[in-house]
Amino acid sequence: MAQFSEKEIREIVSRVINSYDTPAADKKAFDSTQFEGRKLIGIFDDMNKAIEAANAGYKAVRAMQVEEREKIITEIRRLTREEAPIMARIGVAETKMGKVEHKRLKHILVADKTPGTEDIISNAKTGDNGLTLVEMAPFGVVGAITPSTNPSETVICNSIGMIAAGNGVVFNPHPGAIATSNYAVDLVNRASRNAGGPEILVASMDKPTLESADVMYKHPLIRLLVCTGGPGVVRAVLSSGKKAIGAGAGNPPVIVDNTADIKKAAKDIIDGCTFDNNLPCIAEKEVFAFSDIADELIAGMQQNGAYKITAAQADELAKIVLVSKTDKSGKTKVMVNRDCVGRDADVLLAKIGVKVGKEVRCIICETDFSHDFVQHELMMPILPIVRVRNIDEAIDLAVKAEHGNRHTAHMHSKNIDHLSRFARAVETTIFVKNAPSYAGIGFGGEGHTTFTIAGPTGEGITSARSFTRQRRCVMADSFRII
Ligand code: NAD
Repeated sequence: MAQFSEKEIREIVSRVINSYDTPAADKKAFDSTQFEGRKLIGIFDDMNKAIEAANAGYKAVRAMQVEEREKIITEIRRLTREEAPIMARIGVAETKMGKVEHKRLKHILVADKTPGTEDIISNAKTGDNGLTLVEMAPFGVVGAITPSTNPSETVICNSIGMIAAGNGVVFNPHPGAIATSNYAVDLVNRASRNAGGPEILVASMDKPTLESADVMYKHPLIRLLVCTGGPGVVRAVLSSGKKAIGAGAGNPPVIVDNTADIKKAAKDIIDGCTFDNNLPCIAEKEVFAFSDIADELIAGMQQNGAYKITAAQADELAKIVLVSKTDKSGKTKVMVNRDCVGRDADVLLAKIGVKVGKEVRCIICETDFSHDFVQHELMMPILPIVRVRNIDEAIDLAVKAEHGNRHTAHMHSKNIDHLSRFARAVETTIFVKNAPSYAGIGFGGEGHTTFTIAGPTGEGITSARSFTRQRRCVMADSFRII
C-alpha cells in the first residue's frame, strides 16, 4: 500500500474538499423561474395568483385518499434523494453559504426522516355516553416563509409535512435563495404530477419580498402561517393576527465538564459546529469548558481541523464579521455581516491575513463571556471557548448566552446531575447529550427530522401533525362495542 507523508495527506484532503466546495460551473446568474431551460412549475409573479394556485392544490389534496397523498410523498422522497446533489450545488452557488456535501446530506435526511401521513393519528374516547372521535384536519392553505440557510431543505420538509396533513402550501422564500427554494417547489410539483396528483400542488413567488409576505399575511385563504427565520420575521408573523407557527433564532451553548470523554467531545463539537459551515440553527455556537480540561479540549479540537487564533486576532475578526447598524430611532445594533455567514473557515481567516488550506474547518479562540462571538448568533465556523470554574458558573453563563431563545443546547458529560441541571435550567426545545448538534434533528440520533424547530410557539420538532387542527365528532349513546 502506498505510504503518504502527513503533508501529502493534507494536500489530498484539501484537494478533495475543494472539489466538493467550489462549484465553479454554477457561478452563473440564477433564475427563479427556470432551471437549465426547463420552466419551473408553480412559480408566480403575484402572491394573489400563487395563493389561488395553492388553494387549487389544497382542493385536490382534500379530494384524495390518504394513500394517494402518501404516493406523492413517496415520490417527493425519491426525487429529493436523486436530486440532492443538484440542490446542494445550487444552494451553495446561489447563497455563497455552506458546504455542498453537507447540504446533500441534509436533503437525504429530509427525504428519509420527515414523517408523512403516518404522523396523523386520530383519537377515540368511549364511555357511557357513546363515542367521541377526534381527527386531525388540515388548516387549508398554509403560508410558509423559509430561510436562506436551509432553503430547499425547508421547502421540501415543510411540503411533506403540510401535504401529509392535507394542506395546500404557498411559499414566500428568502430573497437570497429564491432559485434554490423554487427548484424545490418545482420538485414537489413534479413529484405530484408523477404520482398522479395535480400539476401545481405547491406555489411560490418569482421575486418574494416583504410586500408579498404582507399579502400572504392578510389573504383570507391563508389559514396558517409557518415561519422559519430570524427574530424579525418571526415577530412579524406572530403579530399578523393569524394562527402562526414560529421557528426562530438560537445561539446554542455547549458545556463540557471534567467527566466528559474529552477527545470525543472535541471531535463531536467540531463536527457539529462545522456542519454546513454552522448554518443550522441548532449548531454549536459557543463553548463553556471546565478550566481543568480546557487545554485538552482545545488540543483535541486542533487535531480535528480547528485553527486557534489569539485574543487580538479574535477582536480583529469580530470587527469584520459583525457590523453596527443604527436604526431610524438612533438605536445602534450589532448584526452579523451577511457576507461572512456560512463562509469557509479559510475564507474568514484570510480576512485577517491568515492563510490556511481547506483542511482548516473551524476557527477557535479563547474569549470571555462578554465577547461578541459568544453573544451573537454568527452562523459561521467560528467557535469561542470560555473557561469556567465549576458547573454553577457553566450553567449560569450558558443559560445567559442562549438569551432565552429556548432553542437548542448541548452538553458533554458523564455526570447525570450536571446533565439534568443544565437541561432543566436552559429549557431548550432540543438538548443534545454527548453527540454533535445534528443528532438533535435525527442525524445520528433517534427521532424524526425537521428544519422548522418551533420553540417560540411550542410545536417543537414540527411534523405533519403540527400543521393540523383538531376536530371532534360526537355520537351520543351509540357505537360502543362493549
Ligand atoms: P431571515 O430572518 O433573514 O429571513 C427569513 C425570511 O424572512 C426571508 O424570506 C426574509 O426575506 C423574510 N423576512 C425577513 N424579515 C421579514 C419581515 N419583517 N416580514 C416578512 N418577511 C421577512 O433568516 P435567514 O438569515 O435566512 O435565516 C437565519 C435565521 O433563521 C437564524 O436566526 C436562524 O437561527 C433562524 N432559523 C431558525 C430555524 C428554526 O427551525 N428555528 C431554522 C432555520 C433558520
